[in-house]
Formats: sequence, C-alpha cells, structure tokens
Amino acid sequence: MPTQKILSMALVGFLLAVLSGVLAIPPEHVTKVVLVTGLVLGLSLVSIAGEQSRASRFDKLDAQAYARRHPNHARDGKFSCQACNSQAIQERGILDAPEYKALMCAHCNHLLFYKR
Ligand SMILES: [Zn+2]
Repeated sequence: MPTQKILSMALVGFLLAVLSGVLAIPPEHVTKVVLVTGLVLGLSLVSIAGEQSRASRFDKLDAQAYARRHPNHARDGKFSCQACNSQAIQERGILDAPEYKALMCAHCNHLLFYKR
C-alpha cells in the first residue's frame, strides 16, 4: 500500500524535524513520542518489506517463468494447464494484491502464473 510509504516518509520527515531542532517536543512527552514513532515506523517498514517479498514472489512466477518451466504448455503465446492440459485459462483478481492477476486453469483450478 502506498499509504504506508507515505506514512513512513512523513514519520521520517517528522523525526528529521525533531532531530534538527525545527520541532520541539516537551520533555515530558519525549518518551511517548519516541515510542509511538518507533512503533509506527517499525510496523510500516515490516509491511513494506512484506509487500516487496510478496511482489517478488508474484514476479518470480510470471508467464515467462511458466513458459521456461513448462515449454510444452506455452506454445505460440497460448498457455495450457500443466496439470490437466486444458486451454481454458481464467484471469482472476487477487484480493490483497490488486496490481496482480492470477492466471488459473478454469478446468482444475491449478495456478499457472501471475501477471501484473
Ligand atoms: Zn487444469
């Protein structure tokens, strides 16, 4: 999600402002502010890392990888299912990765590959 990137950039900006003395935090709130900022920043970094590893997982299993692995099932730009040989391939959305589509066999539901 781009929101997390925006959020963590805002937080980094905020931290820089505090560190450079542009923003002053009352001494009694410093611990709280540091804790909350660190927590939110840590969480967004974790989710960014997760998003990237998920993206590379989808990118690794793309049409080219499928064609390389199963040359008999990718001829003349036509794909067929490696499991049941069907040519009925359906494109389905992925709920938590809307930028990708999963190409699945309409016959046996086997996942062929992902595309962006
Ligand atoms: Zn199939």
